[in-house]
Amino acid sequence: MGDSYHVPYETAYPLVPATPDDGERRRVMTDPAGHHHLGVERPQDSGPNRSHGSRLDPWMQSYAQRTAGMTTSEIRALFAVASRPEIVSLAGGMPYLSALPMDTVAATVAQMLATQGLTALQYGSGQGDPTLREQILEVMALEGISAHADDIVVTTGSQHALDLVTRVFIDPGDVVLTEAPSYVGALGVFAAYQAQVAHVTSDHDGLVPQALEERILGLLATGQRIKFLYTVPNFHNPAGTTLSLQRRPQILEICQRHGILVLEDNPYGLLGFDGEPIAAMRSLSEEGVVYLGTFSKTFAPGLRVGWALAPHAVREKLVLASESAILCPSAYSQMTVSAYLSTCDWKAQIKVFRELYRERRDAMIESLSALLPQASWTHPEGGFYVWLTLPDGLNAKAMLPRAVTERVAYVPGTAFFADGTGHRNVRLSYCYPDPDRIREGVRRFAGVVQTELDLLETFGPYDASAGGGGESTSGVQSPAPDLS
Ligand code: PMP
Repeated sequence: MGDSYHVPYETAYPLVPATPDDGERRRVMTDPAGHHHLGVERPQDSGPNRSHGSRLDPWMQSYAQRTAGMTTSEIRALFAVASRPEIVSLAGGMPYLSALPMDTVAATVAQMLATQGLTALQYGSGQGDPTLREQILEVMALEGISAHADDIVVTTGSQHALDLVTRVFIDPGDVVLTEAPSYVGALGVFAAYQAQVAHVTSDHDGLVPQALEERILGLLATGQRIKFLYTVPNFHNPAGTTLSLQRRPQILEICQRHGILVLEDNPYGLLGFDGEPIAAMRSLSEEGVVYLGTFSKTFAPGLRVGWALAPHAVREKLVLASESAILCPSAYSQMTVSAYLSTCDWKAQIKVFRELYRERRDAMIESLSALLPQASWTHPEGGFYVWLTLPDGLNAKAMLPRAVTERVAYVPGTAFFADGTGHRNVRLSYCYPDPDRIREGVRRFAGVVQTELDLLETFGPYDASAGGGGESTSGVQSPAPDLS
């Protein structure tokens, strides 16, 4: 029900050859020997696009304006180095997949292919496999969500869902509200759709309701159009904080009163270290929230299976947007997840992950407490990240090359702000290295901070305007996709 199955484009619409009207003009042309003849001139032969490009990129003048928001960061090159084995990377957000029972997963995939291979390798539903959507309901029930499978859209990871929601709601110049700091991958999507990002003050309990209200009123007073609040309420990336239970209804009420949709992104919700999963914001509001989930952190990011749960009318728009982008999500990946959920003890596996990440969080916090009393940091109750504030006068981005030389990597805080702030902040992740490596990484990191403090004492504060670590005040620089 509600599924739209695709007729592949080639079958439905036979290919039609392009006509000369497609930008081609017939005119008398002169060949190198000086002979004249009638020829067809294509736009790239002499067109203005070509002459306005550069030698490095002949298409420079042809790109859509939205690409101006798609910038790569100069720190990407450093991260290429950071993947070397001698470097302890506290930068990436990669789940620790070695904890998966790989033999069992391999057998599950083999069995699935042997019995359902023709379906798994075929085009599928644009909205996503109905069986998997039913199973997703069970996953979300752990967070108090009751919904209908027809309101779920399966996506290619939740990153794709972020893209779809933004595509469906944002016109250039529209405002997206979000925490300060915010998930770098979401900021990249918002920039690509030319949204304006308005950060809202957030503290150890997440978004501050009073600050949200004031921010909204300020934006409305200047005639801005606010489309949605993007929030990661649980075990935030990068802040490591969790929105308090008390604030959740307050945030929803404020948004509802101003007609602002809430986009709840919850990849880490089931990876809390203590007690039961926290009830999702979607469990408090059916109509005002689009909820995003993913199997990337609880199972395997390589499969790229996530989903959006949306109010019915929004769901329809999301399906159309998704079909136009990708036709349908991978049937193979969805059926792999589906088989895993139905034949393996996925809840026990989540428990394995939670215990493993808790031990790593403890290793990181204990080492920071012992070795870096000059800094402060958040204390995550789940998820992958610690958000650290360096002592006054230090600059995390300027410090990164020295850190890499000392064989430790992190993500500088500026990546997580659309307004160029965050110089004193650092995101440290504890999900991938084992506890001993984490302790070694923090030891190296603390050594780098101490050296910077010594330099500061000798030479005075770092001058961002002198270049090398300065930040632009607009646009988001994505460090690298796998570091998100
Ligand atoms: N949202 C947040 C907050 C994330 O941390 C991530 C992954 N780093 C994603 C979305 C995207 O995850 P995926 O596309 O793998 O589901």
